[in-house]
Amino acid sequence: MDLIFYASLITLGGLGLLFGAGLAFASKKFAVDIDPKVEQIIETLPGANCGACGYPGCSAYAEAVVAGNAPPNKCIPGGEDVTQNIASILGITGVESAEAKVAAIRCQGGKEEAVEKFIYSGIEDCHAALLINGGHKACRYGCLGLGSCAKACPFDAIEMNKNGLPVVIEDKCTGCGVCVQTCPRNIIELIPISQNVYLGCVSKDRTKAVKSVCKVGCFACQLCTKPKVAPSGSIEMEGNLPVIRDIHNEEELFAAYDKCPAHSYVIRGERPVQKEEQKVETEKQ
Ligand code: SF4
Ligand code: SF4
Repeated sequence: MDLIFYASLITLGGLGLLFGAGLAFASKKFAVDIDPKVEQIIETLPGANCGACGYPGCSAYAEAVVAGNAPPNKCIPGGEDVTQNIASILGITGVESAEAKVAAIRCQGGKEEAVEKFIYSGIEDCHAALLINGGHKACRYGCLGLGSCAKACPFDAIEMNKNGLPVVIEDKCTGCGVCVQTCPRNIIELIPISQNVYLGCVSKDRTKAVKSVCKVGCFACQLCTKPKVAPSGSIEMEGNLPVIRDIHNEEELFAAYDKCPAHSYVIRGERPVQKEEQKVETEKQ
């Protein structure tokens, strides 16, 4: 009995040593040398693995940067600090950061404004809702309001309001774009942080087709593109939808906001006081 016990012990111990030595050898033989710069860049990146840089994760982006296949300013959540850190790791200067972006919800048709075709009582997911007869909203472009974007946001920067619309908490939004990829209606857009006015509608329909399904949908009246409102051409029609060509022409964009009979334009944050004077002028026209 003792003999069998000691023989088993020695055999198992020997096997353990053998496999241990084999693993140690394999780890040395097949070790992949990681460029220390890649490791340093991984450390400086936020680690959100959000994909905003166009790569599947922070490590892949770090490798691409060191290999010279990606510029150092692609990490949108990291912003200026991360860009400059990467530039310093690479030993380069004069790198400009890309302008920070923020998510904008381009639909204002919540429960109060938009007509529903039927009552949806399935799972709380916009993709699932879309599978049932194209979704419960009568507008085929409108927000389905089930918050898939809010659930997907890695930074908790979207909340659903009582009206069934997503609200971006801009202080938390890093502009990573995960919500943009998630929304099955394609109504979330990343806009430059310096853009204060945007069109809160993506409907490609016009007139009655819009008015019959939503109180705040752009129905392509074209008023916002008229020379009196946008003399420089900062807003132009593209099909049935006005497109903002000059995001910084605030005089014209605020005039468009005031003129739009559907109230389809959205102002981010507080409207500057001086713009109120322009509002009075526009209303007189
Ligand atoms: S709202 Fe969230 S998911 Fe969308 S861009 Fe901002 S941080 Fe990213
Ligand atoms: S914005 Fe898109 S993902 Fe978010 S609630 Fe609306 S339809 Fe759903």
